[in-house]
Amino acid sequence: MSDKRQNVLLGLTFRELTDFAEESGQPSYRGRQLFEAVYGQRVESVEQISTLPQELRHRFKQRGLSVGVPTIQKKFVSSDGTIRYLIGFSDGQSVETVWMPEGDDGEAGDGSEAGNEVEKARAWDRATICVSSQVGCAVDCQFCLTALLGVKRNLTAGEIVGQVCAVLNDQHVSPPQDRVNIVFMGMGEPFLNYDNFIKAVGLLAEGVGIAESRMTVSTAGIVPRIYDLGAEPVRPKLAISLNAPNDELRSRLMPINRKWNLEKLVAAARDFPLRNRERLTFEYVLMDGVNDSPQNARELSELIRGIRGKVNLIALNPGPGIAFQTPAENRVFEFQKTLTAAGVPAFIRRPRGRDIYAACGQLKRTVEFPAS
Ligand code: SF4
Repeated sequence: MSDKRQNVLLGLTFRELTDFAEESGQPSYRGRQLFEAVYGQRVESVEQISTLPQELRHRFKQRGLSVGVPTIQKKFVSSDGTIRYLIGFSDGQSVETVWMPEGDDGEAGDGSEAGNEVEKARAWDRATICVSSQVGCAVDCQFCLTALLGVKRNLTAGEIVGQVCAVLNDQHVSPPQDRVNIVFMGMGEPFLNYDNFIKAVGLLAEGVGIAESRMTVSTAGIVPRIYDLGAEPVRPKLAISLNAPNDELRSRLMPINRKWNLEKLVAAARDFPLRNRERLTFEYVLMDGVNDSPQNARELSELIRGIRGKVNLIALNPGPGIAFQTPAENRVFEFQKTLTAAGVPAFIRRPRGRDIYAACGQLKRTVEFPAS
């Protein structure tokens, strides 16, 4: 275990937990018990690990061992069911994590009170958790509120997985029985914290029970890490936050483009080893009069021609301190139509939790930027 996190279980792999058990003078199967308790059952304290003998739990507690699930400091509930969580870590830093329930089974209960309760409890049939990978972000996309924070630090793998555990526990939800997707699209650029991010992916897949095909990571275009991701044995799907069809415009909106321009980025996208039926996602935030013209759409379709992918269109989520405006609805539809006519599948993403600043590009520490 690293010095800093010596007493925290969350973030350790099965192998590391087994080593820890053995170093503590325990048989190696205790490693499996710890792994299942921390990730499968998502216990919140060592005392709750019922598979361990009472005496051992006591001993672990005496030496200050903890599971390390972060605390929910605040919850903001949107009128559309989205919940924005402010999640705090042991050093006082915090990030935001968003819960987005979707769909409705539409099935009424049996009419009894109990049936109605079941119906109420399952007013969604799948949910997505949007996870942060850093406190703040260094990438400086000009349309993003998180960018205004700068980067404070990377999250550990345990802190990334911990956000998921805290939200699942709060929602009383357990994958894989419940359909939960993970998107690494919260605060931070996951590929600037690559090792911790990919370790978290492994723990979520193997430990928490969320299939890799249910996870998506979004990058602003850290090209070398796109190649690294393609070589991973267990990896999420890839989304690229594109937002402009040419270098001049993209460098203005996303300064990272000066380091890895569109030629390099699109080449990495073309080389990305897609699995059967997998598609790459290009995210495109539409800003009024900036990148939303039919000409921009035609340029975009040319740029990504031949890549097995789709474009997700997101009308800019407005926010204080952001210089751009949301385009009119007909501009968004026209952009979509132009892409579709050029043979590029394009989808308009419904904004979630706009009223609580939970939508794309709006995450920012609530303590510094209180929701109205
Ligand atoms: S859009 Fe993503 S990568 Fe860009 S500044 Fe915001 S959090 Fe960072």
